[in-house]
Amino acid sequence: MKIFAAGIITETNTFAPVPTALEDFIVQRGKDVLAGRVDYPNLDLYALWGPQAKQQDAELVFGLLAFAQPSGTTLKAAYETLREEMLADLRAAMPVDVCLLMLHGAMVADGYDDCEEDMVRRVREIVGPKAVIGVELDLHCHLRESMIEPADIVIAYKEYPHVDINDRAYELFDLAVAAKRGKIRPTMALFDCQMIGLYPTTRQPMRGVVDAMSEAERRKGVLSVSFGHGFQFADVPHVGAKTLVVADGDRGLAEQVAREFGMRLYGSRKEIGFESLSLPLEAALTKAVASRKTPVVVADQSDNPGGGAPSDSTFALRWLLDHNAQDVAMAILYDPEVVKIARKAGVGARLAMRICGKMGPFSGDPVDAEVTVLAMREKYLHKLPQASGDPQLYPAGDIVALRCGGIDLVVSSERCQCMDPSVFADLGIDPKRKKILVVKSVQHFYGPFAPIAGEVIYMAPPGAVAPDPRLCKYRRVNTERLYPWAADPLGK
Ligand SMILES: [Zn+2]
Repeated sequence: MKIFAAGIITETNTFAPVPTALEDFIVQRGKDVLAGRVDYPNLDLYALWGPQAKQQDAELVFGLLAFAQPSGTTLKAAYETLREEMLADLRAAMPVDVCLLMLHGAMVADGYDDCEEDMVRRVREIVGPKAVIGVELDLHCHLRESMIEPADIVIAYKEYPHVDINDRAYELFDLAVAAKRGKIRPTMALFDCQMIGLYPTTRQPMRGVVDAMSEAERRKGVLSVSFGHGFQFADVPHVGAKTLVVADGDRGLAEQVAREFGMRLYGSRKEIGFESLSLPLEAALTKAVASRKTPVVVADQSDNPGGGAPSDSTFALRWLLDHNAQDVAMAILYDPEVVKIARKAGVGARLAMRICGKMGPFSGDPVDAEVTVLAMREKYLHKLPQASGDPQLYPAGDIVALRCGGIDLVVSSERCQCMDPSVFADLGIDPKRKKILVVKSVQHFYGPFAPIAGEVIYMAPPGAVAPDPRLCKYRRVNTERLYPWAADPLGK
């Protein structure tokens, strides 16, 4: 059996002003891995699926895997260049029995509202009707019939934070191989929940739904249950939350289970979204300063680079400096100029800096302050731990720690979401000894930070990715058919 694996992964915030260009993608190619050049270990699909392929006595051919930090619409030439390289790799590997694709599900390029649909359709044209196509998606995906139709098996992550990327990949591999061997006959169905939002899976009632989804996969004939949360920062007509079920040869069962979970999630729509969980800036920071449950972890949700925000907003920094807050650490602020100057000056230097607030109106005003350079790291890879397997690694460029009044700032030369307290520790800042930790993240920080946090506060200041979807300026989405614009669009 011959298995081809490849993918192009980015999440597109169509409201973000800066487009995603070819140079924004980090790329790992199978041929480079074979030649001993592993630039990005967690983009190495030989490392991910190699052991399973060996076990199954299958040949694994890894083409290209490209990843870009979420940003604005991908440039047409960038998308087409990567896609054509991937398809050329596939043609060279033909004939293949199984094709495994690592995609995001919310990638938009100029001229392509749904890059994943385009990719899966083209892959099908090349591999023919008999090969099995398995696709893994981020749960922040735009699911629709025309995208899943050319595939055999589509699975989305279940966990937000995404601690199960590896586990879902192992599962996809096993199901795709079983399908090719004729042991299962996958068939898929979608259910449209007619709602949109951001749904953390770490608290109830969402936690219970995710556990029940895993439980349902043990039912006879049910192969996989996914909840595509959708990605609200995309002005594409098919935006929204949908459930997706893969059943064994029984389309009716797939439809029934997709509806069951879709209606259950819909029934909880008022409790599971961040629009009901997040506090405005003043309330959040006042609460953090007054709290005795230290360290208080405050999520600056509206400036999360993982959703396409610039990560250089100063609203929280300004408030904390104005209120003379002490023992605070904040990560990861994006300001390549500040990093460059700090690196030139060296550790211990005292500098007058103009910090952040530069990318646009959502960034607030720059902060002018005296800072001391505390520490620096080159070409830093920031981690997102996984439930099993190695952590996912994200390049943050060069990073520096600066002391600014009572606040230690971690500043990077590349945009990178703060997902793990190690980014503080690696710069000599002990996160457990701080009173307040402000992290630019919506939810990915939660798993690694929760064990050290006395309290977690979700904060929705002004910003590019404010968690309430009603603040998105859609022009192409019929919001009348979606919660929270409509109170009860499914009429239950
Ligand atoms: Zn996601």
